[in-house]
Amino acid sequence: MMDKTLQEQFATSFLTGGSAAYIEDIYEQYLEDPTSIDDTWRQKFDQYTQEQSGEKDVAHSEIQNYFRQAGLHRSRMIAASGSGDKSFDAKQVNVLELIQAYRAHGHQYANLDPLGIWKQAKIDHLDLAKYELSKMDFETEFRTGSMFGSTSKKLKQIVEELEATYCKSIGSEFMHISDPGQKQWIQERLESSLSSPQFSSAFKKQILSALTAAEGLEKYLHNKFPGAKRFSLEGGDSLMPMLEELIQRAGSSGTKEIVLGMAHRGRLNVLVNLMGKKPEELFAEFAGKKAVEKGSGDVKYHQGFSSDINTPGGAVHVALAFNPSHLEIVAPVIEGSVRARLERRRDDTYSQVLPIVIHGDSAFTGQGVVMETFNMSQARGYKTGGTVHIVINNQVGFTTNRPDDTRSTTYCTDVAKMIEAPIFHVNADDPEAVVFVTQLALDFRTTYKKDVVIDLVCYRRHGHNEADEPRATQPIMYEKVKKHPTPRKLYADKLAEAGVIDDKYANKLSADYRDKMDDGKNVVSNWLPMKQHEFTVDWSPYLDTDWQTPAVTSLSKEAFDKLATAISTYPDELNLQSQVKRLMTDRKKMANGEIPMDWGFAETMAYASLLDDGYRVRISGQDSGRGTFFHRHAVLHDQKTGDNYQPLKNIREGQGQFHVIDSVLSEEAVLAYEYGYSTTEPRSLVIWEAQFGDFANGAQVVIDQFISSGEHKWGRLCGLVMLLPHGYEGQGPEHSSARLERFLQLCAEHNMQVCVPSTPAQVFHMLRRQMVRKWRTPLIVMSPKSLLRHRLATSQIEELTNGKFESVIDEIDNLDKAKIKRIVMCSGKVYYDLLEKRRADERDDVAIIRIEQLYPFPKHLKDVIAEYQNADEFIWCQEEPKNQGAWYSSRHNFQASVPEKGFVEYAGREASAAPATGIASKHVEEQRALVEDALGRKS
Ligand code: AMP
Repeated sequence: MMDKTLQEQFATSFLTGGSAAYIEDIYEQYLEDPTSIDDTWRQKFDQYTQEQSGEKDVAHSEIQNYFRQAGLHRSRMIAASGSGDKSFDAKQVNVLELIQAYRAHGHQYANLDPLGIWKQAKIDHLDLAKYELSKMDFETEFRTGSMFGSTSKKLKQIVEELEATYCKSIGSEFMHISDPGQKQWIQERLESSLSSPQFSSAFKKQILSALTAAEGLEKYLHNKFPGAKRFSLEGGDSLMPMLEELIQRAGSSGTKEIVLGMAHRGRLNVLVNLMGKKPEELFAEFAGKKAVEKGSGDVKYHQGFSSDINTPGGAVHVALAFNPSHLEIVAPVIEGSVRARLERRRDDTYSQVLPIVIHGDSAFTGQGVVMETFNMSQARGYKTGGTVHIVINNQVGFTTNRPDDTRSTTYCTDVAKMIEAPIFHVNADDPEAVVFVTQLALDFRTTYKKDVVIDLVCYRRHGHNEADEPRATQPIMYEKVKKHPTPRKLYADKLAEAGVIDDKYANKLSADYRDKMDDGKNVVSNWLPMKQHEFTVDWSPYLDTDWQTPAVTSLSKEAFDKLATAISTYPDELNLQSQVKRLMTDRKKMANGEIPMDWGFAETMAYASLLDDGYRVRISGQDSGRGTFFHRHAVLHDQKTGDNYQPLKNIREGQGQFHVIDSVLSEEAVLAYEYGYSTTEPRSLVIWEAQFGDFANGAQVVIDQFISSGEHKWGRLCGLVMLLPHGYEGQGPEHSSARLERFLQLCAEHNMQVCVPSTPAQVFHMLRRQMVRKWRTPLIVMSPKSLLRHRLATSQIEELTNGKFESVIDEIDNLDKAKIKRIVMCSGKVYYDLLEKRRADERDDVAIIRIEQLYPFPKHLKDVIAEYQNADEFIWCQEEPKNQGAWYSSRHNFQASVPEKGFVEYAGREASAAPATGIASKHVEEQRALVEDALGRKS
């Protein structure tokens, strides 16, 4: 008889643990062959499937629910097991529960830590007694349910196989996946091989060779440049056979490109031993001799690299992305780059380009961008068909102990469960197990196009870097490390013991590698010279250009007519929402010139004309389809069917691809993604749009580490556009400022453009210029909110069929220049406040000049101002507080633009901690005062 506690336990846990698994098992058998199961069960399932109108392939959770509601109790399950021997039947159910427990909890018993320090919490999930089993039952044969192999086995064999599969060097976590097919797939791969691969001797020697190279490089550098920072891989050496296998296997199954992202640890090893960077070049960098033609350059362990690697399936192009020290931020950059490559290849099966991202354990669990990137992994606009994530889990974060201080989860990989990615923890001292999980992980990604995680549990032989003394903070760990043989030594001994190699083989491999280092030439035998092909981008037209490179951005009238018709036309049967319908009717009128064009029309025309020219346009942001302020409506929604129509996808046959994406609610990962996309694809206008401009500071690391400095550190050009709604309209501290000052403060050496367009025609020419001109440099736009509908902020057709983007717009009213005493310079929306007030006051002594591009600063402003020969008062007017906006960062430019004796004075809000007031009346008063202050009194 079952003891009471166990009975109670089942009563409460029924259908949540093993019993649920039992039902799953029987249901699987039922699906395969209904006659193979007991009548009682068959009748239950028949009844259930009839209720489901014959639909048998239903989620297991539904089946479990059904039985829960039907009140089927364990005693009846046992009775239904069918042998007639109640005690045996009870044990049979328990055995199936035990099998399921190994799948769910085996990883908690696995031998994962090479140093043996990490102890899992004490648990009893796999204790036989918990299942009312004991060794006395070992010789009894039980049904094995869904376990791989024969339908029944002795308990001893069942336990041995499960131990081998789930509790050795690999800890597999996959039971959190809700798709039964995926779970089954993993289960079968693990159980059919007992997680113990049978590799050939030749392959084992290859693994040893990769470990020898990994260790050899680090030792060589250690001797040649003692104490120099190299962020050694040692301890995690099996990363190298893992990556080699990934490339070779991916190449065999049709992958043509791999984009690899990683932080500093192990990077030199990847560069030299995987990608074929010449050791002599690396040595020159260590010696501080690398020549940098332009820009600042970067340290050697941030460098990117590109090469082609030969595989059984042909050449695979591997691009290692440049990386700042800000660990995880490269992950979304990689994904964006992969998406660009997939779209270039028009590969919607996600099979030709593979993202691989290598993480550190503390960063993986600690940094939010990891979660943001996972959240994007299956989202329509960002999907890349699954990433292989590798965590170099050296169990210490700089000097911070794992796990007590670095996280609140059991594993550093738990965040990946949010997308139900399978996770394979593997002991890095068992390189065959490492290669086995690599194959498994890649095949899972290939089959299901989903992310997968490998947790390479290892250690760090040295400190955080080689100048660091780890014993100061991790004395126990480093006492162990000191005595612990290297992965190469352990594996070489293992192979020698198994007779795969003789005594001398391993030493000779090491000596040969040292000789290659001495030679300084490429050590990667599969390396191929990079070949140009139809998907290779030629970046040469974009090199050696500058912001004044000429570009024709106006359209012929014929082109205007054709495109204006296309963007204002939609199928008759489309039922538009009333405001949208009115807007589209207006667009028709704008196309005909019946009414002046507004912002949305001109902006859409810019996209239409670029698409017509064959460029691709990709706009991504939280409300980009509609536009946060209801102005864009790139996607027209049918009110009855929910279908949509996008005029910009219907410009002409063979046009460039148009993609507007309502993004996931993230700034950091999405902006990094778009940076990755645009650094990969110069023929795409890539736009990231903030919902409100100030939200961009959620992505500050992307702005600082990539957008503003990527070209100067790494020579990577980037034509990304950031549209940042900005303007003081009384919406309070968080919805007024895109923090213009931050961008201007980062500007130097023509690294970015900062524009504040004030008319529809200006936004049209500015966006077109970003593609037509062959200068690929980020464009930061303070874009408007109220100007989207301002009655004065309109343009005429001629401004699109003639003209260009004007970095300075002179006074537009026909004032007598000789009468002008005062010149007010400004940017953006405040211009219209100034203009309206001046007109209202009928002033003819003040000219208002707009600076539409604050960086690179238009030097010809000086000539424009010089025309006003009698002006002796010069004002910079801004809406932002004095410590913000353009004043401090651009004051020298304003001053340099006025005559020698002139002095530029400030008119604007007082310095303030918050960007704006949240009190409407205060806002109005401030705005009135700054406008009046700027215009001054008529003398
Ligand atoms: P990848 O496909 O990323 O490996 O790039 C191949 C080559 O194209 C690189 O080695 C660079 O020479 C060039 N390239 C790639 N991206 C850029 C970029 N954003 N700016 C300039 N050159 C680039």
